[in-house]
Amino acid sequence: MIIQPKTRGFICTTAHPAGCARQVARQIEYVRSKPPISGPKKALVVGASTGYGLASRIVAAFGAGADTIGVYFDKPAEGARTATAGWYNSAAFERAASEAGRKSFSIVGDAFSDEIKAKTIDLIRTEFGQVDLVVYSVASPRRTHPKTGETFSSVIKPIGETYTNKTVNFHTGEVTTVSVEPATEDEVRQTVAVMGGEDWQMWIDALSGAGVLAPGAVTVAYSYIGPEITHAVYREGTIGRAKDDLEATALRLNERLSPNGGRAYVSVNKALVTQSSSAIPVVPLYIAALYKVMKEKNLHEGCIEQMYRLFSERLYGPSPTPVDEKGRVRVDDWEMRSDVQEEVSRLWSAITTENIYELSDLEGYRQEFFQLFGFETDGVDYEADVDPAVDIPNLR
Ligand code: NAD
Repeated sequence: MIIQPKTRGFICTTAHPAGCARQVARQIEYVRSKPPISGPKKALVVGASTGYGLASRIVAAFGAGADTIGVYFDKPAEGARTATAGWYNSAAFERAASEAGRKSFSIVGDAFSDEIKAKTIDLIRTEFGQVDLVVYSVASPRRTHPKTGETFSSVIKPIGETYTNKTVNFHTGEVTTVSVEPATEDEVRQTVAVMGGEDWQMWIDALSGAGVLAPGAVTVAYSYIGPEITHAVYREGTIGRAKDDLEATALRLNERLSPNGGRAYVSVNKALVTQSSSAIPVVPLYIAALYKVMKEKNLHEGCIEQMYRLFSERLYGPSPTPVDEKGRVRVDDWEMRSDVQEEVSRLWSAITTENIYELSDLEGYRQEFFQLFGFETDGVDYEADVDPAVDIPNLR
């Protein structure tokens, strides 16, 4: 069939297998063009099919030569419905990893469940023995607690006061003012339950309890801080509370793992176009302004450049790994540079519907958004008939 993008709100409901494969190949080529990393040998990536998790898996496999297991929640094609982008990305990754002689396996299912943790542990035991890196990169709107059965939903809202700021419809370029009502206490609790550190901790407890975490193992999860403009809705809002919890979990895990030579970190990454970030009010407009400034200053990075820098210059770079005063690894350092932020905030005050395409890189944002689903990618024939049913090799 001929596959076209179909959007509903901020999501795209179709994905292109050849385009996704091309995007994955581009990331692999980038990593191969860089010096190899003396890093992990057996890696588990939870949330491995898109965004930062996929890029982490690619850097582990193609930068450090690691065997990898990816856990993710994606759907295969069914009838006329295409598979999700993460499905196609993972199929392409698995094929490339096998061709390069790396062992790699995929587990598709709910990472929050006991069942998927047990299945992953069995697979590690039979195929790898142990893992020496665990990347936790799950971003989800919901989580069902494995012990209580309660289902939590995460919301992106300010705490205490209504937040009002500019936002953009990145499909049309229309800049409007958005107001987001403050979260209730229960919404804060539920967001922390979905995006905080409890599930990461459960993974590490389960892996270490089963003896499949190698001595000296590293684990990392991802956080965000960002500029003043987004603080009320991000870092000081519901999701920020979840990130505080994730960061506190890193410190606890680090204490637990360090007697065995292990290390646990939160890495604060740059704001990027991913399926998750496009759902946050105000953030796409901020990213569009940020991209303009960072591209002009030759500082722009995507997920793969960020993750290569995280592995080569932080986690497996000079020892000890450089961290900030709160023990966090920072690869958002270029985003947060004062010259970058001053320029972004100057643009921010001036942006309107009339000048958005001059004052921001909204076109770059829009294109990257479609590229997440395999569209608008060079070297892909979108008029060609393609089979949406793609198998993932090594799916367990
Ligand atoms: P993403 O949406 O691209 O990827 C999320 C991954 O989680 C996918 O592989 C998906 O399959 C998987 N997933 C979701 N629910 C799952 C479940 N129940 N079981 C198993 N897998 C599941 O997200 P992303 O933007 O790469 O975010 C990853 C992490 O990075 C998050 O913690 C996010 O807060 C953080 N981060 C993102 C940005 C950004 O700008 N995008 C910046 C800094 C930090």
